[in-house]
Amino acid sequence: MTTETGSRQSPEERVRVWLGRIAPEIRSGIGVQNPATDEFVASVPNDGAAAARGAVDRAEAAAAQWRNLVAEERGRLLLRFAERMLEEQDSLAALLTTEQGKPLAEAAGEIRYAASFLRFAAGEAERIYGELVPASQADKRILVLRQPVGVAAIVTPWNFPAAMITRKLGPALAAGCTVVVKPAEQTPLTALALGWLAREAGIPDGVFNIVTGEPAAITGAWLEDPRVRKLSFTGSTEVGRLLMAKASRNLTRLSLELGGHAPFLVFDDADLDRAVEGAVINKFRNAGQTCICANRFYVQAGVYDEFVSRYAAAIRELKVGRGTDEGVSIGPLIDDTGMAKVETHVEDALARGATVREGGKRVRLPGLADRFYAPTLLEGFTPEMLLAQEETFGPVSPAARFVHEEEAIAMANASRYGLAAYFYTRDAARLMRVAEALEYGVIGANDGAPSTAQAPFGGMKHSGFGREGGRYAMEDYLETKYVSWRI
Ligand code: ADP
Repeated sequence: MTTETGSRQSPEERVRVWLGRIAPEIRSGIGVQNPATDEFVASVPNDGAAAARGAVDRAEAAAAQWRNLVAEERGRLLLRFAERMLEEQDSLAALLTTEQGKPLAEAAGEIRYAASFLRFAAGEAERIYGELVPASQADKRILVLRQPVGVAAIVTPWNFPAAMITRKLGPALAAGCTVVVKPAEQTPLTALALGWLAREAGIPDGVFNIVTGEPAAITGAWLEDPRVRKLSFTGSTEVGRLLMAKASRNLTRLSLELGGHAPFLVFDDADLDRAVEGAVINKFRNAGQTCICANRFYVQAGVYDEFVSRYAAAIRELKVGRGTDEGVSIGPLIDDTGMAKVETHVEDALARGATVREGGKRVRLPGLADRFYAPTLLEGFTPEMLLAQEETFGPVSPAARFVHEEEAIAMANASRYGLAAYFYTRDAARLMRVAEALEYGVIGANDGAPSTAQAPFGGMKHSGFGREGGRYAMEDYLETKYVSWRI
């Protein structure tokens, strides 16, 4: 297969190629802006309930053909889709950075990560096994069947414009469901590019449908439609709660991957080099705009000063700038609302006694939007601060000191969220004890980057329910039925 994107093209040229490919889907409607420059990139349709229902019509019409394909063939198409994504890695990364802001290298990493969900799900398509359960009567057989739930709706946020779609799309398509997708209004172009690649890979029309526009109208239409059997949502807890209330109407099955408020614990017996490295990778990926980023650091008294000074030195080296510029590791925040939240959290912390060890202010860059925030370390963090109550979604690390393990676990668990938690220790007994005690769905034990396609990603408490990734993700898109067969 030939690609139009040669290796010497600039990011701007690569984006132009993509806008040409998805041109039929970009018309007047919602403007998409480059968060690093405020430049207009393209418009996508501002569709509502009628278009949402139209997408379900198409998904429903394609359902029988898709579910009746042999699993091997569905898997083969998903693999081809994943391969095309990898071939287009650089051009997709350029498009993603243009609408989302993250550094190009991170965007390319997201494309590989996104493709890995399709690749893993492709294999799972062939492993959807039924069972023959021993019956209590000699003349009976009990057959357990696994079947696709039907049309699945997928609603995604802007922070991972590719991976949050494929993490749901892969298992849904592997299971034999057809899907309707609503990407976030800030980042619809990557979603439309994925739709283009899926068609090119041979995924039949109607199997993967994308609707852009009015969030409440689109999702409302889907939850009012009895043909939509499943909604998988990643986003804020507030919107998750709204969707859950609306899902009661048709008892639509739900998976909700909501906000997080990750604690990051460093014990006296930690390998500090690894702890600092893990903290930087974890905290500053996507400028701190991920639901599994550390929101609060608790460091044991014996290593507090050492950890904090090494961490401060490491983050001083991070370059803030436009994602397409060389050497940048922290891009812009997504929008002005995001910036206002970060500033409010920092101001509140300072008013309540925190001190700035590093950063703590905007970074103004000539010719670029005023949307960059310095990597920040605050000391004197306490539970009353807004930083402790809400997700900051920015490059801010508040740190506090602790003395006893039990105290650290209690502070770590004192949150309504339960998505991800991290801790560093070299003591094997402590490692197991702490991992078991933390009330979080994803635990990084000496690991600041736990996300991977094989693992069951998801949260507890106000972080939602359902697991994405690995074989666990398939459960969300399969119905279990049994046949009691009298012979
Ligand atoms: P974030 O704070 O990360 O933007 P949101 O929950 O607001 O998270 O957005 C995640 C997804 O939810 C996006 O696709 C967005 O369009 C959608 N969304 C936002 N508000 C609503 C709403 N009232 N009803 C349904 N979907 C919504």
